[in-house]
Amino acid sequence: MHDGSSPSESSWQRIPLVTRPAELLALLELDPALEALDYEHLRDFPLRVPHGFVARMRKKDPQDPLFQQIWPASAESLDTPGFSSDAVGDLASLKSGGVIHKYHGRALVIATGACAINCRYCFRRHFPYNDSLASRGNWRETLAQIEADGSIEEVILSGGDPLSLTDDKLSAFVSALERIPHVRRLRLHTRTAVVLPERVDEALLGWLSRTRLQKVVVLHVNHANEIDAAVETAITRLRGAGATLLNQSVLLRNVNDSSDTLAALSERLFACGVLPYYLHLLDRVQGAGHFEVNENKAVKLMGELAARLPGYLVPRLARELPGAPAKTLLPW
Ligand SMILES: *Cc1c(COP(=O)(O)O)cnc(C)c1O
Ligand code: SF4
Repeated sequence: MHDGSSPSESSWQRIPLVTRPAELLALLELDPALEALDYEHLRDFPLRVPHGFVARMRKKDPQDPLFQQIWPASAESLDTPGFSSDAVGDLASLKSGGVIHKYHGRALVIATGACAINCRYCFRRHFPYNDSLASRGNWRETLAQIEADGSIEEVILSGGDPLSLTDDKLSAFVSALERIPHVRRLRLHTRTAVVLPERVDEALLGWLSRTRLQKVVVLHVNHANEIDAAVETAITRLRGAGATLLNQSVLLRNVNDSSDTLAALSERLFACGVLPYYLHLLDRVQGAGHFEVNENKAVKLMGELAARLPGYLVPRLARELPGAPAKTLLPW
């Protein structure tokens, strides 16, 4: 804010992203001929990754688990049977004006469709939404719904990524929430804090530490290599602001589908003060078929994890089913 930029723009908003496949391959010293999705398909869900995240990838290794998550592989154009463009049924609820999806006592608010990164396995690739949604109209409709329902104790900001919004917008929303007596907890679901740790800046920590609400930050980390020193610092600051830190991961083929990798992730998270929370089975979205790990293998991995880790480092294996009153946990 003291570097001559406009007061409404923070420095994290100007951090350049890598968006051209050729540039990414050059940065990683990979074969420029590595096959990518054709331009036609790529246009709908482009390559998008912060430089800092690229810096955590191994060079000259097309199998790198971080690279795998963001590289638009040609396999995305394959039509996998059983994979649809609205795997979790969210489009229906969004269209009915529902920015709030309710589990008992909790309201999930789709704050924005924007993200700092495009994860190739994400259901978001098929969402027609842009970065308006709940934050449009100063959150008036969202706040009215929360205020009218005395059973809502926890408000979950999700997306996209709520940290794509400016701190002005977020702190205005949180101030309004604080005036609703039955709301006690605020939860943020964010991957931005991991892929762009610069986002965890003084402005964010300011409103977060000042709120009377209890705070839970659920990160999205899939592999231990995603947590470098800058991410660890961001996590430490979030905890310093009084937030409880949890993590959710997606089980992804060739990224984290081994018990060694998952155990290392749990250990790395806990070393930063983060507890593993959910391990999600992939949402069956078109274009993500090459990431799928079948349920039998998932169950086997959970057994191996439980046999070697303390119980609090074993995440809950879950699958998202449209219309269910809670996450569907898989027995293993
Ligand atoms: C995942 C989810 C929540 C949060 O569920 P927890 O089990 O409390 O983490 C809330 N609402 C909806 C619609 C969800 O999909
Ligand atoms: S950050 Fe989350 S919502 Fe955004 S593209 Fe990745 S998985 Fe999807």
